Amino acid sequence: MKYEYDVAVIGLGPAGMAVSVMAAEMGLKVIAVEARDIGGECMNVGCIPSKAILRAAKVRHTAGRANDFGLSEIAPPQVVDTFQRVRNHLKFISEKKTMAMFKKVELVLRQGQASFVDAHTLKVGSRTFTAKRTFICVGTRPSLAAIEGMESVGVLTNDNLFDLETVPDSLIVIGSGAIACEMAQAFNRLGCKVTMVMRGKGLMWREDPDARDLLEKTFLDEGIRMLTDRNMTRIERRDGNVVLTTEQDGEISATHVLSATGRRMDFDSLDLPAAGVKFNQKGIVVNHLLRTSRRNIYAVGDCNGYAQLSHAAMHQGMIALMNAIMPPGMRMDFHKFVVPWTVFTEPMISHVGPRASALKESKVRFEEIVVRHEDYGAAIAENLGSGFVKVLVSSAGRIHAATVVGEGSGEMINEWALAVQKRIRIHDMMMLQHSFPTMSFLNKRAAETWMMNRMRSSFVRWLCRLFYKM
Ligand SMILES: Cc1cc2nc3c(=O)[nH]c(=O)nc-3n(C[C@H](O)[C@H](O)[C@H](O)COP(=O)(O)OP(=O)(O)OC[C@H]3O[C@@H](n4cnc5c(N)ncnc54)[C@H](O)[C@@H]3O)c2cc1C
Repeated sequence: MKYEYDVAVIGLGPAGMAVSVMAAEMGLKVIAVEARDIGGECMNVGCIPSKAILRAAKVRHTAGRANDFGLSEIAPPQVVDTFQRVRNHLKFISEKKTMAMFKKVELVLRQGQASFVDAHTLKVGSRTFTAKRTFICVGTRPSLAAIEGMESVGVLTNDNLFDLETVPDSLIVIGSGAIACEMAQAFNRLGCKVTMVMRGKGLMWREDPDARDLLEKTFLDEGIRMLTDRNMTRIERRDGNVVLTTEQDGEISATHVLSATGRRMDFDSLDLPAAGVKFNQKGIVVNHLLRTSRRNIYAVGDCNGYAQLSHAAMHQGMIALMNAIMPPGMRMDFHKFVVPWTVFTEPMISHVGPRASALKESKVRFEEIVVRHEDYGAAIAENLGSGFVKVLVSSAGRIHAATVVGEGSGEMINEWALAVQKRIRIHDMMMLQHSFPTMSFLNKRAAETWMMNRMRSSFVRWLCRLFYKM
């Protein structure tokens, strides 16, 4: 059977961009459909604008701390047009940088949502076309907290947060995960009075307890109110304010409310049953090759529910395309690639590998090595605040996992990700010279600490004495 296109891509977030640009560069005939804007959630309403707002907030916060660096005190600068500036940058990236990558791709932009007619035929508006293989890259949607009145109160989500013109006077942030934490700190630092309300016992409850403690302490010091273990019963708008009722506090009021309580799958518009593609509440079902229940259709990125991170989406896009091209023996299992992640708060929290609790459950023996910013001259002299590198290592030096908290952690974690993925032993980290005085020098110091612990064993000490005297 002859198809009009070799490859059809639905959705142009990080996953869809990776697939379509790579496939076109390989000489395949590619059509890509995007209902909204190229770049998807990440570029338009996710990673990029959120980090830009965090950066502005950090500048304002640091200016307010001039005294800590022996500089004369200055009042925190006023926020003038931060949001508009971020939007201008996004427009520039989209028009001048991103579009240039799509010269060889046939784009169907803002003409409606693509849906399946059958496993090889897609429809957008009144147009239908056929493709040999289709890559579904449709991402997820924000999920609203299930609280009475939520739908009608005019809540902010990441979809409209970056459309704000000014910093709200006050903001209730519902949630305790990465997005809730990042935006709570950013808006608080921009001068907004922030109250976080969460069902769980604290921020980022699944993560390393020391990292969580440090984050909560910082949020308290910066004046963010955190209400944990709350049962939220009702939310309404009254006299221009949002009023949230909890069983524990009664009414809490603010000018705005942000719901950051996770993501939901939404595949209605795709008509997946028409193509025979299976899905459930966790996402579109894929096998280790990222292939769906239809051999010619792949589901890549957030929509398969595996990891809701941009770099994972891009990586999966690359793997899925290669699996579609390669002969059977050369195809890759996408689970084999580690997924590091970073929460861009201050302190920044990054992690790679299984959590300590998961290792314990699987009865894997490990030792925890921790080195702290407080013991590192460069961090002290530069006034970089608290943080640490924590590595989970086997007695033979195999690196299972690492958590890095504080200045530079988002960069430092990539070295640990390489070590975990390529099974590089901790001795090799120790033997690698690290540029000094950088924060990643602490990665080497963690490796040295592991080695020093080995040196304390009486057998190693006996060996050393023996060799020295030879
Ligand atoms: C506030 C916030 C901050 C974040 N920060 C980070 C971060 O720092 N680091 C990180 O790694 N991740 C971050 N993320 C997560 C990241 O944005 C997602 O993991 C990533 O965007 C997923 O990429 P994707 O390609 O799978 O889907 P998306 O980026 O969601 O793109 C899907 C695209 O498909 C389109 N689409 C959907 N249905 C159809 C259809 N039927 N037809 C045509 N088009 C369709 C949508 O319009 C959308 O453009 C953040 C998310 C948020 C909300």
